[in-house]
Amino acid sequence: MTHQRHYDAIVVGLGAWGSATLSHLAGRGLSVLGIDQFTPPHVRGSHHGNGRVIRMASPEGAFYTPMMRRAYELWHELDAETGAEVLTTVGGVYAAPPDDEMIWGALKSYEGTDIPHEVLSAAEARTRFPWLRVGDSESVIHEPGTGRLHPERAIVAHTDLARRRGADIVVSQGMKDWEQTGDRVVVTTDSGTFTADRLVLTLGSWAPHHLKLDLPLVVERQVFAVYDVRDVPGPLTMVSLPSTHCEAFYGVPEQDDTFKLALHHGGLTGPTDELPTTVADEEKELLKSYVADRLPHFPEEPLQVTTCKYTNTPDRHFVLTRHPEAPAVVVGAGCSGRGFKFATFIGEALADLATGVERPDLHHFSPGRFPQSQV
Ligand SMILES: Cc1cc2nc3c(=O)[nH]c(=O)nc-3n(C[C@H](O)[C@H](O)[C@H](O)COP(=O)(O)OP(=O)(O)OC[C@H]3O[C@@H](n4cnc5c(N)ncnc54)[C@H](O)[C@@H]3O)c2cc1C
Repeated sequence: MTHQRHYDAIVVGLGAWGSATLSHLAGRGLSVLGIDQFTPPHVRGSHHGNGRVIRMASPEGAFYTPMMRRAYELWHELDAETGAEVLTTVGGVYAAPPDDEMIWGALKSYEGTDIPHEVLSAAEARTRFPWLRVGDSESVIHEPGTGRLHPERAIVAHTDLARRRGADIVVSQGMKDWEQTGDRVVVTTDSGTFTADRLVLTLGSWAPHHLKLDLPLVVERQVFAVYDVRDVPGPLTMVSLPSTHCEAFYGVPEQDDTFKLALHHGGLTGPTDELPTTVADEEKELLKSYVADRLPHFPEEPLQVTTCKYTNTPDRHFVLTRHPEAPAVVVGAGCSGRGFKFATFIGEALADLATGVERPDLHHFSPGRFPQSQV
């Protein structure tokens, strides 16, 4: 029988959040092991398929503003340290009736801050952003610091950094079970057993199967499409628009003259491995009608239409916590379709929780807020 090394910490799930956590833990001089069932980045979870939006406006709550500042700082540090060019500033435009949360929520989150933004009239917006159809009664917000994160590059950068800092990484090995016995944790995978003082679980849409915690997580399939925008008059920015079918219809310009458009929420729900990856004709028609209505210079047909997954909590806030039944285990779950931009912050925060640093600022993310959770 081979003798496995005992680690200070193991991170299972090396997607957006886990790869960041692994690099932070390794950066603190700990002996760490990262495990993933696939070889991240991959197309089976929540991190594939083009740019992720990062912006300072946080209609979901003012407590996100300092988190977002720290996340931006850490993305810049990652780029400086690795040269990966994960973050690109593209600017962002939100166009909706003034009573839409997209508008009043963003304006509220700017209050008392120095976050650069402009409020434009419909006429001004049409001149500045000729590719966007804006209704006369709509308000438009422009946040110039809005950025695009390259998800695959982010995961590679964090994973490479972790490796350079001494982390061991095992891929194509699924965790079957974990257990805390005394002050150590035992992780059993398809082909081995590993032990550590601490375990971090960042399992994305597979979290409901392995957390041993009764969390009300719902996995939701999201449809997105990629358009050729070579002939669209610029400057193209990130855009967010209201939708009758879902919570928003949004998009982000990519680096290769393409533009990703996606529906935010309103998707099919179910266990992660049972959600269809094919896109139905009605879903394609829905995208087509939004494009025709709002983005008249875009081609009618996309280059590609595909799916990805959100893992939602009922209040759309994350779960970032020490496991209530197993104090050596730390859980990061419930990305709720908005978790990529926070990955650097969350990696640092989960590394803190795993190393005994108190993070009272994370109380918003306790599972105790859900009545049915076992805490
Ligand atoms: C279409 C789409 C658009 C999005 N747009 C944005 C956006 O604009 N801005 C934003 O901030 N966020 C956005 N998000 C959300 C963001 O991408 C997710 O919050 C983020 O990727 C979640 O990261 P994660 O680490 O939780 O999951 P993942 O990145 O999916 O990683 C989980 C990892 O755990 C591994 N794993 C799971 N179970 C096991 C096991 N048993 N054993 C070993 N490994 C395991 C998986 O293989 C996977 O690699 C979007 C998501 C989608 C789907």
